[in-house]
Amino acid sequence: MHTTVEQWDVIVLGAGLAGISAAIETKKRGLRTLVLSKVHPLRSHSGAAQGGINAALYYDTPRSHIKDTIIGSDYLADQDAVDILCNSAPRIIQHLDNRGALFNRTEDGMIAQRPFGAQSYPRTCFVKDRTGLVCLNTMYEEALFYGVEFRSEWYALDLLYNPAEQTAYGLTAMNLVNSSIHVFIGAEVILAGGGYGRAFSRTSNAYANTGDTLGMIIRAGLSLQDMEFVQFHPTGLADSGILISEAARGEGGILLNSEGERFMQNYAPHKLELAPRDIVSRACETEIREGRGVGPRKDGIYLDVRHLGAPHIHSRLPELYDLALTLQGENMIEEPIRIAPTAHYSMGGIPTDTRAQVKKDINSLVRGLYAAGECACVSVHGANRLGGNSLLEAIVYGRRAGRSAAEDALLNKYTPSAKDGEHEASFSLERLQSLYLSEKSLGFFELRDRLRNEMMRRSGIFRSADDMSIARETIYHLAGEFRRCRVQDITPFYNTELQEALEFENMLLYSSAIVESALARKESRGAHYRSDFPHRDDKNWRNHSVFCFKENKGSIHYNPVLSGSFAPEERYG
Ligand SMILES: Cc1cc2nc3c(=O)[nH]c(=O)nc-3n(C[C@H](O)[C@H](O)[C@H](O)COP(=O)(O)OP(=O)(O)OC[C@H]3O[C@@H](n4cnc5c(N)ncnc54)[C@H](O)[C@@H]3O)c2cc1C
Repeated sequence: MHTTVEQWDVIVLGAGLAGISAAIETKKRGLRTLVLSKVHPLRSHSGAAQGGINAALYYDTPRSHIKDTIIGSDYLADQDAVDILCNSAPRIIQHLDNRGALFNRTEDGMIAQRPFGAQSYPRTCFVKDRTGLVCLNTMYEEALFYGVEFRSEWYALDLLYNPAEQTAYGLTAMNLVNSSIHVFIGAEVILAGGGYGRAFSRTSNAYANTGDTLGMIIRAGLSLQDMEFVQFHPTGLADSGILISEAARGEGGILLNSEGERFMQNYAPHKLELAPRDIVSRACETEIREGRGVGPRKDGIYLDVRHLGAPHIHSRLPELYDLALTLQGENMIEEPIRIAPTAHYSMGGIPTDTRAQVKKDINSLVRGLYAAGECACVSVHGANRLGGNSLLEAIVYGRRAGRSAAEDALLNKYTPSAKDGEHEASFSLERLQSLYLSEKSLGFFELRDRLRNEMMRRSGIFRSADDMSIARETIYHLAGEFRRCRVQDITPFYNTELQEALEFENMLLYSSAIVESALARKESRGAHYRSDFPHRDDKNWRNHSVFCFKENKGSIHYNPVLSGSFAPEERYG
């Protein structure tokens, strides 16, 4: 088979807000930049973000934004990274505004800001409830203006990485149109592959959020950080998990159980529905488990926004109104809608420094490799992300990844050389071929359902050693079964079965990282709640977990959190 080889200065994997922001920076500095994406850039998951993007504007201060973010993170965020995030925020909003993002305004023409969970000020800037889509369009147009080259419907397979020199030098990818395999060589590689909530059966994440970049990192022998911290958003639609944004509560929506009780008074009497997401999710799940759920299966909670009135709902929450009506047949103007916690955001990911360069270990970096956005862990969200902080992170650290890659490219003037295409692609080609070779013709879709149900049930909102040990065994078993599966579809054109098999392989790898890291952390912090260790333990556990596979076995070690001026205290509710 002939495998083509292309040479670029910079290769960006992912065309969401992080990837596009990075590509603009490298292209602006004159570097030949290629962005690969398995979906069209405007279909990237950033476009699904509804609620808004945070920045301390007007009377608010970055210092207050920093403090809220660190407390919200349950003191696991690194303060240097948070400082950069929050101090950059006002400039990012100004940039988006200047580039035409039509932020909602107050009557006197200021940018309107809505309150979001665990924030001291209303600091979430928004475009109705379609903020992500508007930001993504704005940045995409800017990238086109600078001449960034995009290739959609390309599926990245593996990182080209030389372990002896700790250097990344490109990646392999499959053209989804005809399943041909290509090698992309680049002195700088930026990973911006987004989130990975699809490992859970109820999730707000798009079908594309399968954690491919994490699988690539594990296969390259590199590590992942803080994988146990998976955020459950309290208000997914009960039937599908699709998100009803925090904007609904930010605008004044309240949560009720089957007895009509505003139960958040019992869990977070001060912040109520706007307590940090992990606290609200656990409260909802507890109400459901204790029999006070609503709906035919008693597996939901009511979100009530009727008191806001039809004009307010239509002007501020039009998308949420449509989603509840279309997907659940519930008209939020006239009745409370049924919601339930849904797997939403992953705080862990590929460890980077604040230049967004990927860390090999605590003291060394991977040459030529950067990561940003939800697949990365820099870490600004620690154990629990605040709503409105991740669109911001994707842009701030996407830009930093692009600038660092450009700086390094211009400074080092390093041009990696590739051997022939077949040689560079051999590992990926073997992986693909093995999916067609098994003698058994087991399908893998059922295995995927089992994984997602198991992750939800045993490694979700409430966790224990017993449950997670079972989850670990199940994952090993499913991984074994997967090796006996064979892809049935042999046509090269848009072979979605092949793509989904490859995605499932990645899902198995990072699910294992989640479960192993969660099993090892014997405390509760942020989104990671252990019923057998219900308290936060700063003395022993205020540290980042670092997971990697060695000789087919997961191994974990811990690195210190970079503290700043906010010493750990009990979190408020
Ligand atoms: C429903 C929902 C609502 C949200 N609302 C908000 C909000 O209001 N405010 C906020 O701050 N955050 C919000 N978030 C979180 C936020 O949207 C995301 O964290 C952020 O947009 C991630 O951006 P990204 O660029 O890292 O990834 P994405 O936008 O997901 O982009 C990932 C890119 O990687 C590409 N890719 C992945 N794998 C491959 C592969 N193997 N080969 C090729 N390409 C690949 C994809 O095609 C895509 O282009 C929300 C999340 C969800 C799920």
